[in-house]
Amino acid sequence: MKQFRIHTDDVVQVVAGRDKGKVGRVLKVLHKKDRVLVEKVNIAVRHIKPNPQIQQPGGRIEKEMPLHVSNVMLRCPVCNNPTRVGYRYLEETKDGKSERRRVRFCKKCNEILAQGGKKK
Ligand SMILES: [Zn+2]
Repeated sequence: MKQFRIHTDDVVQVVAGRDKGKVGRVLKVLHKKDRVLVEKVNIAVRHIKPNPQIQQPGGRIEKEMPLHVSNVMLRCPVCNNPTRVGYRYLEETKDGKSERRRVRFCKKCNEILAQGGKKK
């Protein structure tokens, strides 16, 4: 699986396309398609007919469409800029063993970024 620099729950800014400048939270990363689904960004409106059999009222459905990953940039929570992401390794000592942990950092302010996604 390809490693994306953008993870679920990251806040990203759109840098190209119709919704350029918009900021939203990543709902889903579609690795196979190189796309991300961003909350309230790239909305497509579909008009649907009412369907009484499943008690669905007619109307408009707004749905996020996936954006290509190259059209978004991570927004750094520390310096509040859209930024490129770098990786570095941290040495950590845990239970007497040292571990190397890969972390992301902001290339603008050099702060280490949270890994995105909630721990399960
Ligand atoms: Zn930053």
